[in-house]
Amino acid sequence: MSAPDPLLRAAPRLDVERVREDFPILRQQVHGKPLVYLDNGASAQKPQQVIEAVTRCYREYYSNIHRGIHMLSQTATAAFEEARGKVARFLNAPSEKEIIFTRGCTEAINLVAYSYVRPRLRAGDEILISAMEHHSNIVPWQILCEETGAKLVVVPISDAGEISLEDVESRITERTRIVGIMQVSNALGTINPVREIVRIAHARSVAVLVDGAQAVPRMAVDVQDIGADFYAFSSHKLYGPTGVGVLYGRLDLLKTMPPWQGGGDMIRSVSFERTEFAEPPARFEAGTPNIAGVIGLGAAVDYVTALDLRAIEAHEADLLRYATELVSEIPGVRIIGTAAEKAGVLSFVMEDAHPHDIGTILDADGVAIRSGHHCAQPVMQRFGIPATARASFGLYNTRVEVEQLAASIRKVRDLFA
Ligand code: PLP
Repeated sequence: MSAPDPLLRAAPRLDVERVREDFPILRQQVHGKPLVYLDNGASAQKPQQVIEAVTRCYREYYSNIHRGIHMLSQTATAAFEEARGKVARFLNAPSEKEIIFTRGCTEAINLVAYSYVRPRLRAGDEILISAMEHHSNIVPWQILCEETGAKLVVVPISDAGEISLEDVESRITERTRIVGIMQVSNALGTINPVREIVRIAHARSVAVLVDGAQAVPRMAVDVQDIGADFYAFSSHKLYGPTGVGVLYGRLDLLKTMPPWQGGGDMIRSVSFERTEFAEPPARFEAGTPNIAGVIGLGAAVDYVTALDLRAIEAHEADLLRYATELVSEIPGVRIIGTAAEKAGVLSFVMEDAHPHDIGTILDADGVAIRSGHHCAQPVMQRFGIPATARASFGLYNTRVEVEQLAASIRKVRDLFA
């Protein structure tokens, strides 16, 4: 094993046993066995602090926002806007006006597709993505390409599941209108060099959208340091409520973008002759948002910030190293995704056992993992497999749980050998 990263060595320690007490769902048994929840890449569990923030909103001050002059509406508005400030500080965004609340990461990417890229896209233009993207960073672009005659260009991935900067650079042309790239792969765990990719794209005056869905729960993200023009993520993978996402967008770009949905709360004035749209972020937040969900996301941001993202990153790096060591020793197991820079995602296949069989047998042991294509079918095609079994770690997972994972995989091995 390589020497630990000095930065990680200096990171504060996570008191995992203490942290686990914050997550009521983890106390249960599944099929008579203690729950080992290793499906965090799909969605993470919620700490008491988030559950309470959402409950308190509904119990004490719930009301619609931005429109009432009564006390409850003003309290709810203040809490909602406070969450926007928390998210801005969390991403180190220069301004709260650059934080748009959406239904999720998927909707945030679609917003960029329809409001930033579509008005700029002509037949023959190009959209550059990588071969490891989640469907949510493929399909919106394909729809635009079909509508306009633009072309989707794809940066290939190596056998280890990495992309090369040379391949990115060589595929950016005068026709490239945007680069869409994930920071951490949900299917492979690869951490992409997004800062360098942004530098390369900006040198050619091309904007970059970073899909941070799997990054924000696992590492400190600084959108100014990355230099991203747009950055998208979902609350539910960050220990926050479902139904909420975030799009960070550079204010100068947001100001040039038309709304992509019309309705209440996104206007300055409306008459049948003419509507004047509000400034960002309101311009992109038509209709009543997920008020309690956004407030819950604010609590989730507080929660991970208090634990320290550096501690979470170091903890998950340790779990990943340990799991990789134990799982790769099991005969017949092949790990899919062996990038040098990896986050807490371990995808694997086994000789003779389909990933769904692996998932079912592990579930009987109380071990929850994901089996399937992980909304990344092109990745499966790249590796010539139908699916993988995937364990994805969270801040509350332990080394003992990693051992339980490995023991259960050994059982699968024994059954299918
Ligand atoms: N991007 C990545 C890398 C993901 O892993 C996911 C969800 O798995 C998404 C985008 C889409 O997130 P959501 O379904 O919350 O919109």
